[in-house]
Order: sequence, then structure tokens, then C-alpha cells
Amino acid sequence: MSKNSRYERQLIVPQIGEEGQEKLKNSKVTVIGCGGLGSPVLTYLAMAGVGHLRMIDCDVVSLTNLNRQFFFEEENVDQEKCETAATFLKKRNPEITLEPICTMVTEENVDELLKDSDVVVDCVDRVATRRMIGQACTKLQIPLVEGGVHGFYGYVLPINPGKSACLECVETGTSKEMIPVPAIGAAVGVIGSLQAVECLKMILELPVSYGTMLQYDGIYGEFEQIPVAVRKDCSCQK
Ligand SMILES: [Zn+2]
Repeated sequence: MSKNSRYERQLIVPQIGEEGQEKLKNSKVTVIGCGGLGSPVLTYLAMAGVGHLRMIDCDVVSLTNLNRQFFFEEENVDQEKCETAATFLKKRNPEITLEPICTMVTEENVDELLKDSDVVVDCVDRVATRRMIGQACTKLQIPLVEGGVHGFYGYVLPINPGKSACLECVETGTSKEMIPVPAIGAAVGVIGSLQAVECLKMILELPVSYGTMLQYDGIYGEFEQIPVAVRKDCSCQK
């Protein structure tokens, strides 16, 4: 790889180098959701040179997406999100393989959609979909990066399937879901960027704080690391 390559700045990162760059090139990541979290996650993974990005979203662009989903412009309203996002990413890095899949993730297709992935990054905003993705990753033994936002708050949780706490280990299932989820673009960007960093570390085989939930409070400008224990009766332990 020549010095003036697009990856020059990360080739000189001691934890990456030529060997790490090759790992990124040979990796396949599936990102579910091409919205607020998906925009920074997919953009940074594409620009870093992750060789194969499968990107899944069944939605079309709406005007209400534009406060945070920087993939899209006003002229994209009503167009398919994952195709529009792929066009955006292709311009940033034409060297990688993009696999946009415009479909809804269901119990029937989730295994098929996630299989063969080295890492899955969850960028959806529905609890039921998160649960389904988490369970599929446990079953398929694929590392998962969870992330979520609510207004100025957010969290990231890297999951080692069956070995570290999953999202269901944390959730009691009683909290009421708010739809649409309140979201500030800049805070979504913080969480999405953190998810991308965790995903890159998983591929590069660098230390990942599995089982530690990193919580972000944008109001006070604080991060807190919260260790989460595996719940013995959780579905991830069956
Ligand atoms: Zn669990």
C-alpha cells in the first residue's frame, strides 16, 4: 500500500498499520438501519476501508430525517434510504463493496441477513427489532455493537455473544418505548461514531470493553462506564 494512499493517516496508527488495514479490507460488517446512527457508522467504516458493508433498511427518506441523517438531502425525500446511502458512500470510497438491502428485518429473514458477518452494528430505533437482532447474533455467534439515543442521552454496548451481557440482560422490559424517539443530530453523531470505533476494534482484534455500557449524558457533557452482569435467566444464556 503506497504512502499517499487514502489510508495513509491510519496506516501510521500503531494499532493499525499494513496488517490492520488488511484485516479491515478482508472484513464484512452488517449495519442494520441507514438512519441517524447508520449515517456516521457506515460513513466511518466505509472511509476506514472495511471491505464489505451490508446495509439494511426498508424505509424511504422523509423530511423529518434531515435533522440528523446526513446521508440524505431534501431532493432524496421519498427515495429508498439504503440505495441513497450507498450512493453517498460510494463517492467516499469506491474501493469497497457495498451491499444495500432494502428490506424489513423479520424473524424469518434475520439469520440469513446477518450470517457471514464478522461484526453486526445495530442502528435501529425499535426495541423489538433490537431484541431480534441481539438474539440472532447470539445464535450465530457474531459480535454485536449496540447503540441507542434519546434526546441528549445515549449509550453504546459491545456484546460478545453468549459471553458478555446483552441488551436483554440490562433491560427489564417494562420501560415504555417512545415513538418517534427524540433525537438531536449531534448527539446521535457521538453515539454512532463510538459504535464505529468499537466495530473497528473488534475487526482489528484490539481490546474491547465487552459487557460495559458506555453512557453519554450530553446535558452534563459526561460519559460513564457501567459494567453489566450477564443475567443467568436471559435468552442469551440459553
Ligand atoms: Zn442477555
